[in-house]
Formats: sequence, C-alpha cells, structure tokens
Amino acid sequence: MALPERCPLCSAGRESQSVVTRHVFGDVSGARAFFHCGACDVRYQFPALTEEEEARFYAAEFEGFMASRSGEQGGWLKTEQHLVANEPTRLRRMKYMAPYLDGSLDILEVGCSSGFMLYPLAEAGHRCTGIEPSGIFSEFVRSRGLPAHASLEALQKASPTARFDLILHFFVLEHIADPVAFLTTQLAMLKPGGQIIFEIPNAADPLYSVYDIPAFERFYWSVAHPWYFNEPSLNYLLEQVGSEARVLRDQRYDLSNHMVWARDGRPGGMGRFTEKLGSAAEEAYKQSLIDCGMCDTLVGIIHKSENV
Ligand SMILES: [Zn+2]
Repeated sequence: MALPERCPLCSAGRESQSVVTRHVFGDVSGARAFFHCGACDVRYQFPALTEEEEARFYAAEFEGFMASRSGEQGGWLKTEQHLVANEPTRLRRMKYMAPYLDGSLDILEVGCSSGFMLYPLAEAGHRCTGIEPSGIFSEFVRSRGLPAHASLEALQKASPTARFDLILHFFVLEHIADPVAFLTTQLAMLKPGGQIIFEIPNAADPLYSVYDIPAFERFYWSVAHPWYFNEPSLNYLLEQVGSEARVLRDQRYDLSNHMVWARDGRPGGMGRFTEKLGSAAEEAYKQSLIDCGMCDTLVGIIHKSENV
C-alpha cells in the first residue's frame, strides 16, 4: 500500500499520517485508502484520483442516472420527484439560512441539482443562478426560468463581472480536489459583506464515531470524496481561506435511520419508526447529537468583509 509523504492539507510529515480504512467504496483499483492527519485532523483519500479517473467516474455516475430513466419523460418526472423528496432538506437548511436572507439578494448555488433550494428563494424576490454539470438538471432549471451554467468557469466566461450576495453549496466541497482554491474563487465572486454558506458531511458521524457499525464503515468512505472534514480540520481549512468564518452543526438522519443501520446494516430507514416513537423523540435525539458534536453534518459560513 502506498503511503503519503505528507498531509495534502497542512503538509505535516509522514509521522503524523495513519490509515483510517482500506475500504474505499467504489474504488475499482483496490489501491486506495483513507488516511488521517494527526496535525490538522483531516481524513483524506490517498493516492488521489487523477483528473482522468475523476472525469471517468463522474461520466459513469451520470450514465447510471440516465439508465434509471423510465420512458421518454422519465428524466423530467424524476426531477419533479426530486423537488418533493428534498422539501424536508430545504426546510432544515432554511432554519440556519434565514438570518442571511434580508432584502433582495443575488444568490448563486454551486451544484444546484434540480434547483429545489432556489425556486422558493426566487419566489421570495431573490435573483437566483445555478451551477449544475448534469444536463438533465440544468435544462430543468432553465425550463423553470432560472439561469444555469455547467460550471463556475462557464459562468465567469458568460458574465465576468457577476457578483453575488450569497453563494451556496451543499455536499460539494468534499468532492473538490483543491478546496482552498474552490472557496477562494467564490470569495472573489462575492460582493463586500456577502457570505458563502455550505454543508459537508461531518467525519464525527455517530454511525462511525459512536456506534462504529461495520456495514456503515464499508459504505461511508467513498472514492468520490478526496476529503472528510470534522470541526478542527474544517476550521483549519477556513483559516487557509483567510476570511472571517464560523462552523455550525446539524443532524440530517434520524433515530429510525440509525436503528435500521444497526439492525439491517443499510441506509433508507429515515422516518421508519417515527409514528411509533413520536416526532419529539426523533427531534430530541437529533438535538443531543448536535449538542455533543457527534452529528452527521457541518455548516460552514464564510463572511466577506465590507471593506474590500
Ligand atoms: Zn494535516
């Protein structure tokens, strides 16, 4: 097994690096592992995917999505279902986004998928733009009247002077090979006083850090993710970006989901026992995980100073 010479985030030497797992979900080569850096606390894939491997991987994912289409209108139907299925996710995010939505803002979402976050924001009077590489999703977003570009570079080419009050991305950063460059580019596209708000998985996920469920370990560490951040390593990353920032905690999955992982060793249990347990129990469970920091989601908020 190849060993890293230094941490790809903080450059700490070999003596600080140790193996987390050799179970890399989706790695056909079998040559990869996840490592932990004792200096900055980040977990990372090594060796990293080459650009060519990365392009091949995402092309295959997209084909999988296409293959699941049922009939000519299947893709569009799936996209409509995506909006409905993601409404609880949208409402969860709106709770912490609300303080940043005063007035009529220019909002950009990087990786907007079906656009489920953006339509209600546009209806509330904000000017929304999406970045979405998937053709099906970006066509759908345009059909709903919002501008959508295939990449940040495509947007910068089409509108070099476009500046935003708010840039959003949810579960994108952990897919990005150079997260400092990714955030620095977005900081340059913000208006003074603007914010970047993003979500990532927390490497302190309780299914791993509390219960240590073997089936979850084999599922969690994905070849699609160069990085897994926790609070210390995310704070380290944000220091490198160099703008004022803070980190919030959140919990997406409920007690039912965790019970199904423990019982059956698989995902998909969300809401399964809620009727019997009561929603108060589900909410209290999520809040306890947030309070102790063993929660599945971190929210980063980067603020751009007024004086730039
Ligand atoms: Zn490090």
